[in-house]
Amino acid sequence: MKKNFAIIGLGRFGGSICRTLVEAGQDVLVIDSSEDRVNEFMNIATHAVVANAQDESVLRSLGIRNFDHVIVAIGEDIQASILATLMIKEMGVPFVTAKAQNDYHGKVLERIGADHVVHPERDMGIRIGHHLVSKNVVDYLELSDEYSLVELKVTNPKFYRKSLDELDFRAKFGLTVIGIRRGQEMIISPKATETIEENDTLMVVGSVIDLDRLEAMMP
Ligand code: ADP
Repeated sequence: MKKNFAIIGLGRFGGSICRTLVEAGQDVLVIDSSEDRVNEFMNIATHAVVANAQDESVLRSLGIRNFDHVIVAIGEDIQASILATLMIKEMGVPFVTAKAQNDYHGKVLERIGADHVVHPERDMGIRIGHHLVSKNVVDYLELSDEYSLVELKVTNPKFYRKSLDELDFRAKFGLTVIGIRRGQEMIISPKATETIEENDTLMVVGSVIDLDRLEAMMP
């Protein structure tokens, strides 16, 4: 379904969201106070406007309240990010995603009504950190403070040629396997009878404690 997106701030973060949405066939309005940034996106976004998002009359004249989803991707200028988010929510935009520079900024954004607060640098640091600690962790995604999704390479022969049922995966590890990557093949929602083979990569969801325990079993 086609939605109306507006992105404020065309740094690396806002810029890559814009490109991805356009590639997915969505209409995107981009706003940035820098003319150079806007020029760069003139032929990419549906509309590109040079404007200061801290100016309420500007946001009104652009009809921001009519957008389904606004992404506040202002980086360094925390005050501008907070003010823009506040005004956009007050105008009644149903869904606002805002980028936080740090935890305090993130808390404020949540308080003033941002529907989704993202911490791209922090989250990418966590993902890379997990990969550095355990070379078998292919990817790591925090779902909440307690739960994560991990892509883990199976390197322990105890798992080879055993089905999820035989391993009693859910009961023994407290974890759910949502996918198995085998070479080019991807088995989504594997059945209990599905076996694990050497060199498989498991996509596993569960508590951080249980995931750490499984990671430790892959030497
Ligand atoms: P990133 O870390 O994603 O690269 P940057 O801080 O480099 O973030 O980019 C943020 C963008 O937001 C810049 O292009 C900047 O011009 C824009 N920006 C900052 N303040 C405002 C504002 N008040 N109104 C509109 N755009 C703004």
